[in-house]
Amino acid sequence: MIRNQKTVLIVDDNDEDRQTYRRYLLQDRQYTYRILQAESANLGLELCKQVQPDVILLNFVLPDMSARGFIKQLQAQINSNNRLPVVILTSQQDEKMIVDGEGYDYLLKETIDAVGLRFVVHQLIEQTRLESELDIAKQFIQAALSESEKRFRLFADNLESIIWISSPDSSQNFYINKAYETIWHRSCGSLYNHPRSWIDAVHPDDYERVLAKLEQQKHGQITNTEFRIILPDGQERWIWDRAFPIKDETGTLNYYFGIAEDITEQKLAQEQIRHLTETLEQQVMERTSQLQTANNELEAFTYTISHDLRAPLRAMQGFAEALAEDYGQLLDEVGNEYISRIISSAQRLENLIQDLLSYSRLSRTDVYLQPISLDNLMFEVITQLDADLKAKNAQVIISAPLPVVLAHRNTLAQVIANLLTNAIKFIRVGEQPQVLIWAESKTPGWIRLWVRDNGIGIKGEHYKRIFRVFERLHGIERYPGTGVGLAIVRKGVERMGGRVGVESLPGQGSSFWIELKDGSK
Ligand code: ADP
Repeated sequence: MIRNQKTVLIVDDNDEDRQTYRRYLLQDRQYTYRILQAESANLGLELCKQVQPDVILLNFVLPDMSARGFIKQLQAQINSNNRLPVVILTSQQDEKMIVDGEGYDYLLKETIDAVGLRFVVHQLIEQTRLESELDIAKQFIQAALSESEKRFRLFADNLESIIWISSPDSSQNFYINKAYETIWHRSCGSLYNHPRSWIDAVHPDDYERVLAKLEQQKHGQITNTEFRIILPDGQERWIWDRAFPIKDETGTLNYYFGIAEDITEQKLAQEQIRHLTETLEQQVMERTSQLQTANNELEAFTYTISHDLRAPLRAMQGFAEALAEDYGQLLDEVGNEYISRIISSAQRLENLIQDLLSYSRLSRTDVYLQPISLDNLMFEVITQLDADLKAKNAQVIISAPLPVVLAHRNTLAQVIANLLTNAIKFIRVGEQPQVLIWAESKTPGWIRLWVRDNGIGIKGEHYKRIFRVFERLHGIERYPGTGVGLAIVRKGVERMGGRVGVESLPGQGSSFWIELKDGSK
C-alpha cells in the first residue's frame, strides 16, 4: 500500500460535481487518494461492503435516499454506532436541517473550492486517526489492567514500538512492553521500580523539552514530542513519543497512554538530505563564482583582442584608401571594385569591433547611478542621431514630459540611441519610419520607457534571442548591423539595475521597453 494513500468515496448523483471534487483531491500534495464514485446511495452502500473508505463525501439529497438514511444504513451494515467519517455536501436550503442533525461536517456546494474541500478532508482524516489511536489506547488499558489477558501481553511484546501506560503525573507506571528494553537498553523491571527512570537517559539538550511534555500531561493534553536518548554504551537514539490522556466516564483523568518509536534512521536520512542540500548549495556557489571569473576573463580577452585588432585594421583601411587614391586610375574597373569591397568589409569589421568594445566596456566600467532627466537625455540623443533621422525621413514623436530615472548618463544615452537606430532601421522598403516614445510607471518606484516603431515586427519565439550578442534575424545586405546593439541595451540596463523587453507582432511594428528606478525622489 502506498503510504499516505487514502480512500475517498464520493456519493453524488451529479456527475460534473463528482469530477470536480475528484480533481480537487487529486491535486492534493499531502495525501494520494484512491477515489471511488457512486451516483446513488445504494451503489455507495454496495461499495462500502467491499472497501472501508477513509472519507465519504455525501450529497445531502440523493435519488434513492437522504444523506441521513445513508448514514443509518451504513452504520447498520458495518454494525457500528460510531460517527462515520462523512462530509455532507449541501445546498443553501438544506443547511438548517444538517445543523440540527447529528453534527456531521458539511460543505455548502456552491462555495466549495479546492482548498476548502481538501482542508475538511484532511481534518476528517486526522480526527479519525486520533479517534482510532484513542480506541486502541482504551482497549490496551482494559486488557493491560486485567492480568488474565495473556494474549494482550504476547501481542504487545511483539510490537516494535514502545507502549506505555502511566499515571498522569508519571509517578506510577502501569504497563510497559518489551520494546522498551530493545530501544532504551534498560529493563522493564527497572522502570516499574523507578517509573521516572526513563528520563535519566534523555539527552541533556532535550531535557527541557521532555519536562515540558510531562507538564502538559499533567493538564490532560495530547503530546507529541521528539527527543534524543543516550544508551548505556554512549550511542544516541532519536525517539518520537505520542501520549493521550485516558479519562473515565465521569471525565476524571486516570491514565496516560503513550506510543514511543525509535526514529533514528529517519532522522539520519533527514540529516543526510540536509547535508547534501548544503553541499549542493556550496557547490553551486563555487561554480557560480568560477563561472563569474571565467566570464570576466573572457570579457577582458574580448576587450584586448578587439583593441589589438584595430591597429592592423586601420592599416588595411588606410592602405586600401591610399591604393584607390594613388593607383586607382592604373587599375581597371574590376580592380577598383575589389578595392571598394576591401574598404567596405574593413568598415564592417571596424563597426563590429567598435560594438564589441562598447559591449565589453560595459562590464568593465563602474556604473554610478544618478537622477537623469529623460527629457534632456532624449533631446541629446535625437540631436546626435539627427543626420540618420533626416536621411530616413523618420518621424519621432515624444510624449513629453518624460520623467527622471536613476541611471548612468552615457550608458543610458547609448541604450536609447541603439533602440532608436533599430526603430528606424527595421522598416519595410519605402515606408516612412514613425517612432513613438513615452514613459509610464505601473510598478511604484519604477519607470518604463517605451520605444514603439511601425517596422517589420518580430515573432514571439525570437523575443529573448535578439538580446544576445550576434543574434540577428536578417541578412546583412537587407538590414546591415553587427547583432550587438540589443545585447548592449540589455547589459547596459541590467548594469543599471533594470530590465528590458519587447512586445511585437510580425508586420505590426515593435515596442521595446526598458525599466529603470524612478529618480524623482
Ligand atoms: P543589429 O541591429 O546590429 O542587427 P541588434 O542586436 O540591435 O543588432 O538587433 C538584433 C536583431 O533583432 C536584429 O538583427 C533584428 O533582427 C532584430 N530587431 C532589433 N530591433 C528591431 C526592431 N525595432 N524591429 C524589428 N526587428 C528588430
